[in-house]
Amino acid sequence: MAETSTGERHEFQAEVNRILDIVVNSLYSKREVFLRELISNASDACDKLRYEAQLDGNLMGDDPDLKITITPDAKTKTLTVADNGIGMNHDELVANLGTIAGSGTAQFAEQLAEAEKDLAKKEKADMSLIGQFGVGFYAVFMAADEVTVISRRAGSDEAWAWTSDGRTGFEIAEAGADTPRGTTITLKLKKDAKEFSETLRVETVVKTYSEHVGMPVWIATDGQSNQVNEAAALWARPKSEISADQYTEFYRHTGHAFDEPWLTLHNKAEGTISYTSLLFIPSMAPFDLFDPARRHGVKLFVRRVFITDECEGLVPAWLRFLKGVVDSEDLPLNVSREVLQNNPVVAKISKALIKRVLNELKKKAKKDTEGYATFWETFGQVLKEGIYEDEGRRQELLKLARFKSTGGDGWVSLDDYIARMKEGQDSIYMLTGDKTEAMRQSPMLEAFKAKDIEVLLLDEPVDEFWTMSTDAYEEKPFVSVSRGDIDLSGIAGGDDKDETKDEEPAGDVAPLVAMIKLALESSVKDVRESKRLTDSACCLVVDEGDMNMRLQKMLRASGQLGAEGERILEINAKHPLIRSLAERAKGDGGSREIEDMAYLLFDQALILEGELPKDPALFARRMSDAMAKAVS
Ligand code: ADP
Ligand code: MG
Repeated sequence: MAETSTGERHEFQAEVNRILDIVVNSLYSKREVFLRELISNASDACDKLRYEAQLDGNLMGDDPDLKITITPDAKTKTLTVADNGIGMNHDELVANLGTIAGSGTAQFAEQLAEAEKDLAKKEKADMSLIGQFGVGFYAVFMAADEVTVISRRAGSDEAWAWTSDGRTGFEIAEAGADTPRGTTITLKLKKDAKEFSETLRVETVVKTYSEHVGMPVWIATDGQSNQVNEAAALWARPKSEISADQYTEFYRHTGHAFDEPWLTLHNKAEGTISYTSLLFIPSMAPFDLFDPARRHGVKLFVRRVFITDECEGLVPAWLRFLKGVVDSEDLPLNVSREVLQNNPVVAKISKALIKRVLNELKKKAKKDTEGYATFWETFGQVLKEGIYEDEGRRQELLKLARFKSTGGDGWVSLDDYIARMKEGQDSIYMLTGDKTEAMRQSPMLEAFKAKDIEVLLLDEPVDEFWTMSTDAYEEKPFVSVSRGDIDLSGIAGGDDKDETKDEEPAGDVAPLVAMIKLALESSVKDVRESKRLTDSACCLVVDEGDMNMRLQKMLRASGQLGAEGERILEINAKHPLIRSLAERAKGDGGSREIEDMAYLLFDQALILEGELPKDPALFARRMSDAMAKAVS
């Protein structure tokens, strides 16, 4: 940063340059959105001041009527957006308008960086990304050659002017002492953006974007000004007076979203606690759905005054896809954000909100199966977190949950599953894994396929967690098909393939089991004869109460678990290979050979689980030996 006579010179952060590039070059057709961004920032700034003024009465000074004033000037070809909100001091100007951190714009920049690594995807990514994020302040450079931001922070004596052409960086200089509180942004319009200096054009745009804004927006021309919006909180108006378009526009404004809401819930509660909620479920998942640092989507107001969008207790993490506002009558206006953390009123509102959202989802699931399936695909993973986090709502959430299964390609509810259970079946069977396509081929399913018993296929990481803490649904226990002893003999089979199949009786495998156990030593917890295999020679399972195989694999991959696991090798006594080996074991012929075979069986079972053989080189050597013997 070099000091010049006019002020300090600053370079933009690299990410800012990237945003500017994209914004200026590809948003051409929709460039009026820069006005939405400016209005939204101005209204945020007024909200912030109103909140801070509750705590410090002096901040409002003699200018308590917060508003936004837009001045198009056809003579000078400029457009000015001014607010008397919180304002920015020197360091805030530098940080907020020169770098990117922790805003919608930051995520946008991150995604761009990702996309740039893969040039083939770049073009596609840019366009769809722009559709999902507000581009923020930098959108002004779509319409302006030069932008000046003059600002005075509430309570401060200093005022600063920030100037930039959106290409080479920006300059900061001290501004006059008579600068009013708040921020005034002046755009020197590009040649082909002169339309934004004409009152009629600006009025049309401003009307669409400011209707739902809680602050009054004024347009000033030739010494005259008039208010263009009602500045009434949309959620405070009766439902019957609000159109679907108004709801959508409000959703996009408060939620920084570009899609349509999938579900809109507008509700006024009166009674022991009074509040209004206007909540939305988006139709598209945001990029940061699984980012722990993500901003909350539901804003808390107290009697129309914005308090915070970071109220932890209002919406649980497993409903973090919700957007919208909650406006309470029962909280004090000067409540600090810290006090909200464990506030009983917030807790009561939260309880009521959750109940309402879940009820609405239940209705949707019933009335609109297809739409619900789309919702589930988008947000089901998040909702499933509630199954283990919220014990009290576990059964209710399980009822809402949908699963893949061996019964078909679509989504299955547990109620559907139970209705299809076979005679004599009293458990809900499930298998966890990485990919449903691979899971469908798993040897664990053989006995189930033979009896035509449906098995749920759980392929999301979150499944490892809720299945550990959840015993049953509707008193039907969940049973993992890769866990413990599976005995299906009490269940009536589809066509009872077991009995009709022309097969030889199983041989006595006890001596073989003992020899394999000896050979594998501590690599497995146990070796035993399988009841779940019909076609494959062997598979790995875990004992009742032991850690699930996929979790073991996840922990082993991250170094939290050693090579030794709690796995059990099961062998199929009906399989020709096992039968021959069993014969050989009885005759005590070639224990060295059986040791090699034991490892080959174990290694192939590992491969079926998506893992590498314990010692790949040794595996290759044993495999070649076995093949050599087979061809000689
Ligand atoms: P976002 O609004 O998503 O944070 P923006 O690029 O629109 O991203 O704005 C960046 C930051 O600049 C805002 O978070 C805010 O701190 C500051 N800012 C922008 N406009 C104003 C304004 N009119 N008054 C006060 N601060 C502002
Ligand atoms: Mg903004």
